[in-house]
Amino acid sequence: MDTLSYAMNIFNGTYTDERGWKHYRVNGKSYDIRMHPMTLEWECSCPAYKFSRGNKTCKHIKSIQEKA
Ligand SMILES: [Zn+2]
Repeated sequence: MDTLSYAMNIFNGTYTDERGWKHYRVNGKSYDIRMHPMTLEWECSCPAYKFSRGNKTCKHIKSIQEKA
C-alpha cells in the first residue's frame, strides 16, 4: 500500500493535500479524483476526464458528487 492510500484510509477515504485539493477515491479504482473547496473545481485522473475537456466531468466525479 502506498503512502497516499494509507493516509486516505485513515481519513475515511479522503485526503486534503498541501495546496488545498481534497482527494477522493472510487472503490476498486486507482483514479485520483480531487475537488478544490475554494474554486469548486473537480478533476479526475481517468482517461474519460482527460478526453472530455469541454464538460470537465466523468462518472467518477459524478458518483462522488451524488454521495456528497
Ligand atoms: Zn474519472
